[in-house]
Amino acid sequence: MDMMKQYIEEAEAALLHTYNRYQVVLDKGDGVYLYDINGKKYLDFCAGIAVFALGYNNRKYNDALKAQIDKLIHTSNYYYNVPAIEAAKKMKKVSGMDRIFFTNSGAEAVEGAIKAARKYAYLKDGQTDHEIIAMEHSFHGRTMGALSVTGNPKYREAFQPMIGNIRFAKMNDFESVLANVTDKTCAILFETVQGEGGIYPATEEFMKHVKALCEEKDILLILDEIQCGMGRTGTMYAWQKYGIKPDIMTTAKALGCGVPVGAFMMTEKVGQNSLASGDHGTTYGGNPLAAAAIDVVLDIFEEDKVLENVKEVAPYLEEKLDELVAEYDCIETRRGAGLMQGLVFSKPVGEIIAKALENGLILINAGTDIIRFVPPLVISKENVDEMISILKECLQ
Ligand SMILES: *Cc1c(COP(=O)(O)O)cnc(C)c1O
Repeated sequence: MDMMKQYIEEAEAALLHTYNRYQVVLDKGDGVYLYDINGKKYLDFCAGIAVFALGYNNRKYNDALKAQIDKLIHTSNYYYNVPAIEAAKKMKKVSGMDRIFFTNSGAEAVEGAIKAARKYAYLKDGQTDHEIIAMEHSFHGRTMGALSVTGNPKYREAFQPMIGNIRFAKMNDFESVLANVTDKTCAILFETVQGEGGIYPATEEFMKHVKALCEEKDILLILDEIQCGMGRTGTMYAWQKYGIKPDIMTTAKALGCGVPVGAFMMTEKVGQNSLASGDHGTTYGGNPLAAAAIDVVLDIFEEDKVLENVKEVAPYLEEKLDELVAEYDCIETRRGAGLMQGLVFSKPVGEIIAKALENGLILINAGTDIIRFVPPLVISKENVDEMISILKECLQ
C-alpha cells in the first residue's frame, strides 16, 4: 500500500480545498534538507515560504522550545512573562522601533498596523473617514483588513465589500502615490520588497520620496516586512538599507522560524498617540512559547552570524541565476534582493516546479510566471550549486 497516496486521499477528504498542494507528505527536516514519509530527500529553497531561516532541526532552537514547553506555554496577556519581555527587548534593538505588539500571524500584524494608523489619525481630528494608500500587486494576508489592502483583485473579488477607504497606487511610481493623496490619507503601506506580487524591491528613490511626503503631511509610513524582513536581504529589516525609518512596521514569517508568531512595531510617537488600553488585544499573541522562539531565533542570528552568511551567499546566488537568464530563452530576467530572488519566465512555471520536486528540489512560484527563491538563510554556495544543477535538469 502506498502510504503517501493514502495520506493525500485522507487529507483531501478532510481539509477544506483552499490549496492545490504538491503531491508530497513531508516528514522531517535537517539543515537545508527536507524528507518525505518515504525518506526521499529534498533540497529546500522555499523554507516554508521564507520562514525557516535557520534551517531545520537546529539544536539550540529545538532545545530552547522544549525547555519552554516544560515550563509554561501560555498565560494570556493579563500577565507578564519573561520570554516575551526578553524577545521584545531584542526586537527593539534589532529593529530600532520603540513599541511592539505580538500577534499570531502576518495578517494579524497587518490588521494591527491598520488599526494603529486609523487611531492615530482619529486622535488628531476626531474624523472616521481616513484613507490608506496601498500598492498594486501587493500582498498583506487573507483576513478582511489585510485583504482590503492587498492589491490583487482576484483575491478580493468574492469577498467584497472590503474595509473601505483604501486607494491603490503603483509601486515605485511616486507620481501615482501623489495622485492618490488626499487630506484624508492617514497611511501609506507597502512591502519593502514585494513578495507574492512578483519580487519587486522598492527603489531607493521611491522610498525616499514617500518618506519625505509622509513627514511633510504627517502621514504614517507602514512597511510590511513579513517576508523580506528578518535578515533575508542582508540587513535585519530590508528598510534599514534605505536610510529611512517607517512609523509602523510588520514582521512575522521568519520571526519565530516556524512557531506561528508575528508583530507590529512602531515608533514612540505612534505608540503614544494610537492604540491605548482596551483598543486591541489577542489571547495568544506573545505567549511564552512563541516568545521563546523569537528570543532564541534572535540569539542564533547573532551567534551564527546569519546576516553575514546572507551577504556572502546572496551575490553568488544572483550570479548563478543571471547565468541562467543568459543561457535560457524562456527566462526573461532576475529580480530581487539578498536571498529573496525571482526568475521571471516567459511562460507559466508550474511544470518546472513540479519537475524540480520530482528531482529533489523544493521551489515555489510568485504569480504564474515567476520562480521564487527564498531558501533558509543558512544555505551555502554548495547548496546554490546543487540547486542550480537540479534546476538545469528540469529546464532541459
Ligand atoms: C505572508 C505574508 C503576509 C501574511 O502573513 P500570514 O502569516 O500568512 O498571515 C503578509 N504580508 C506579506 C508581505 C507576506 O509575505
